Amino acid sequence: SKKAVLGPLVGAVDQGTSSTRFLVFNSKTAELLSHHQVEIKQEFPREGWVEQDPKEILHSVYECIEKTCEKLGQLNIDISNIKAIGVSNQRETTVVWDKITGEPLYNAVVWLDLRTQSTVESLSKRIPGNNNFVKSKTGLPLSTYFSAVKLRWLLDNVRKVQKAVEEKRALFGTIDSWLIWSLTGGVNGGVHCTDVTNASRTMLFNIHSLEWDKQLCEFFGIPMEILPNVRSSSEIYGLMKAGALEGVPISGCLGDQSAALVGQMCFQIGQAKNTYGTGCFLLCNTGHKCVFSDHGLLTTVAYKLGRDKPVYYALEGSVAIAGAVIRWLRDNLGIIKTSEEIEKLAKEVGTSYGCYFVPAFSGLYAPYWEPSARGIICGLTQFTNKCHIAFAALEAVCFQTREVDGGMTSNKILMQLQADILYIPVVKPSMPETTALGAAMAAGAAEGVGVWSLEPEDLSAVTMERFEPQINAEESEIRYSTWKKAVMKSMGWVT
Ligand code: ADP
Repeated sequence: SKKAVLGPLVGAVDQGTSSTRFLVFNSKTAELLSHHQVEIKQEFPREGWVEQDPKEILHSVYECIEKTCEKLGQLNIDISNIKAIGVSNQRETTVVWDKITGEPLYNAVVWLDLRTQSTVESLSKRIPGNNNFVKSKTGLPLSTYFSAVKLRWLLDNVRKVQKAVEEKRALFGTIDSWLIWSLTGGVNGGVHCTDVTNASRTMLFNIHSLEWDKQLCEFFGIPMEILPNVRSSSEIYGLMKAGALEGVPISGCLGDQSAALVGQMCFQIGQAKNTYGTGCFLLCNTGHKCVFSDHGLLTTVAYKLGRDKPVYYALEGSVAIAGAVIRWLRDNLGIIKTSEEIEKLAKEVGTSYGCYFVPAFSGLYAPYWEPSARGIICGLTQFTNKCHIAFAALEAVCFQTREVDGGMTSNKILMQLQADILYIPVVKPSMPETTALGAAMAAGAAEGVGVWSLEPEDLSAVTMERFEPQINAEESEIRYSTWKKAVMKSMGWVT
């Protein structure tokens, strides 16, 4: 059967911590037409270290593009209708590569990685001026989470990186930069750039002037010539140099959480979204103003959709471990074979029976920013079984979200629990791929592409599913205060 193509199509690369996806949307209806997904390996070479192979990541992108194009072919959709590609990516994850050979000089150091704990400690002792030096420029607390300290570690510890910097062959980038440079030609003229949202997660970027900050680069000892050019989130960066979509412009780039904010249409001040992936990230649009929090929230660049368009900022509550705890139960404990099975286990008992699971695998992020915390499971009795632990794992995601005030959403128990624990209704878009949608919107709206209009009347595509609280307020409070007790026990584990 011939399927009518309603309008120009836009593709989106969604390169996450757990997997890579490529998705193709109809720019007129925001309908998802086809996609392909590949899981990404995570290496844990030492306690607290998390690495990925940049070449595996790049190959997964090509594979997802090729497979999606094949699937479109089977639907009789002509891939020449794809007019633009957007990139959204796991943020902060750090890559250094050789611009002459195109080879990465070390594995990607993933945002969750804790190896820089001592780097952070020694840097924090010599912050110039007042303690606010880093935070006031970047919106971020000095933490293992952000790229600058990961890059500092690579410069201090990896001979190949040091040598490439000395020989002026080194390029630094977050995953967006690595992918865009590679996809636009790599050693043959690849474009070395990033967008303002990704740059705002490096800790080298001044979120007021929207430029790399010379003082910060001096403080972290980062040579500025290895940094990518910073562009807006929506403009043509370059053209695809190979594969089924050769010649198509890459014209959108947003860190995954910014992309989800755009994809969930949170364009008004005060609108917020929470995304449940490897971690959990709640972002609230604060408009053109940088708002600073006293409660452990980050100030970050939300988006800038065009070279001449204004910048928008967001307050962010970051939770390091959400879906990752489900993956841990699958890969490390083996109590489930697939992530989806967690829902069945949890449903069997419908309660954690007093068991609390604080998955502080990478310390605690918002609101604590406590690198010394480690995971604990407590409240165990002889009655406790794997179903209770499964339930406690899901509940942990919801408690952590409540603490920051504010791929897992296919899990209905999780959404219901979230409504119970927040004690407010939760609405979830029926099309879950909002991160990719945001990247596609940015790409389609770019100057010179112009197939996607971001005018308000076009933003009705997202339909919602609603979860109302089903427990009473008192029970919600009791469970939350017991959770807080468990969190206190997880802190200060590493001394
Ligand atoms: P990312 O964008 O960070 O790569 P995704 O949005 O793809 O992450 O979500 C993947 C994470 O969600 C994995 O950690 C996985 O364990 C978890 N996950 C996937 N499906 C389910 C489910 N049905 N229930 C609970 N967790 C799930």
